[in-house]
Amino acid sequence: MKDLYSRHRRVLPDWLALYYDDPLEITHGEGRHVWDSDGNRYLDFFGGILTTMTAHALPEVTKAVSEQAGRIIHSSTLYLNRPMVELAERIAQVSGIPDARVFFTTSGTEANDTALLLATAHRRSNTILAMRNSYHGRSFSTVGITGNRGWSPTSLSPLQTLYVHGSVRTRGPYAELDDQAFTDACVADLKDMLGHTRPPAALIAEPIQGVGGFTSPPDGLYAAFREVLNAHGILWIADEVQTGWGRTGEHFWGWQAHARSGPPDIVTFAKGIGNGMSVGGVIARSEIMNCLDAHSISTFGGTQITMAAGLANLTYLLEHDLQGNARRVGGLLIERLRSVAAQLPGVREVRGRGLMIGIELVRPGTDEADPQAAAAVLEAARAGGLLIGKGGGHSTSALRIAPPLSLTVAEAEEGAAILERALRSSY
Ligand code: PLP
Repeated sequence: MKDLYSRHRRVLPDWLALYYDDPLEITHGEGRHVWDSDGNRYLDFFGGILTTMTAHALPEVTKAVSEQAGRIIHSSTLYLNRPMVELAERIAQVSGIPDARVFFTTSGTEANDTALLLATAHRRSNTILAMRNSYHGRSFSTVGITGNRGWSPTSLSPLQTLYVHGSVRTRGPYAELDDQAFTDACVADLKDMLGHTRPPAALIAEPIQGVGGFTSPPDGLYAAFREVLNAHGILWIADEVQTGWGRTGEHFWGWQAHARSGPPDIVTFAKGIGNGMSVGGVIARSEIMNCLDAHSISTFGGTQITMAAGLANLTYLLEHDLQGNARRVGGLLIERLRSVAAQLPGVREVRGRGLMIGIELVRPGTDEADPQAAAAVLEAARAGGLLIGKGGGHSTSALRIAPPLSLTVAEAEEGAAILERALRSSY
């Protein structure tokens, strides 16, 4: 790995965000484990980067991809292909959106770009509401709607973006409020904002903020927002890039924790559906999906090879009830980590749902964020054979745990024990 480290500095950008002082080179994986180029084995509690949804090297996905590669990898998105239509049908069935249409992209960024295009065209407005501390991608427009300032030079935004309170509960002005008071304060903030602006096209929000440290608002917050949005004719875009496909255990989609007022107008997805292949996309009812004036394609969106992976992966996930597994094993893991946290003054909170678990670190005895401790835990966990994630931008004192959804109870126990040692050695 040492030679790769010095070579990458000559050819890759300095701003490339890499974990670990000595960056890791992963050579292969199986199940919930991966191996580096020195032969070390790690339990993968970050699921790639929430991309390995079912398991590494899942035989069903490998077989579908290699059979597809033997026939054709990609012809042209100007023609139809069977895996794309079949995956669109499966996704429409599980979407919870009536009259759903699906458009495939190659990433979460491109999915969100497409959602912005649809919303601004449909509502004839280029103003977007987004949440503070959010992350929606790295293109010009998605950087512009990203509220997590550590990732977002928002002055470059081509859209006018207004940032709403609502998801950061561990810190900030509303941190000490109970659920109802927090929701009321956020709704009041939204109403106040709408009193001073021309109607925005849409509110985009992650049901649980991913890069923002796995922070979630109270259940029903977006339903409360929705009543205000509906009164102003504003669409709701749920960015499910991290929260979709049963990861949160209780629900198949993150938005379902806020479902009182029905499904979102637009849902975006990516990351886990391709199990590592580049599959992203947008779901919307036909009236919204069909509002564009001109014909459009994504050259690499919906290619045979990526669609074959997505189809095999989604089929496996549904047939093996991995959502139920995320609920059961995730519940045990959260309980176990909370009992460790109770003994460590530097751990302020263990939060989450299913297999999407955040651990907020602070300087012991204070309420101050502790990014150095988070970085130290990441390194110590790696040394112990465990890969985890941390929050990005302004949330770097949060650890993120998001293993493949097939995690076993024994693996959850093993990972929790390594993490406990890493936490203890870092404080
Ligand atoms: N939306 C959310 C919630 C994300 O977490 C990410 C990536 O981390 C994106 C969008 C951007 O996705 P991609 O990196 O595939 O472009």
